[in-house]
Amino acid sequence: MIKINIDQERCKGCRLCVIVCPKDIIIMSEHLNSAGYHPAIKIEEKEKDCIACGKCYQMCPEVAIEINKE
Ligand code: SF4
Ligand code: SF4
Repeated sequence: MIKINIDQERCKGCRLCVIVCPKDIIIMSEHLNSAGYHPAIKIEEKEKDCIACGKCYQMCPEVAIEINKE
């Protein structure tokens, strides 16, 4: 099973991960982090669709995303 972890405090809200994910698993949240950005979040129900392609964490300039196989 693949787990997607997006560090809410590292994220600067650039949306790159949202754009590149081929499965549309990541969206921008409504809440703000402590730096005042809307961080990216995964759609919990879609996490199982992740194919671990790596595009999201490769694109993230803040190194805020981890994909782990459990
Ligand atoms: S690893 Fe690929 S499929 Fe999974 S969340 Fe990231 S971009 Fe989407
Ligand atoms: S690519 Fe990184 S910094 Fe940009 S929205 Fe996604 S998690 Fe946040």
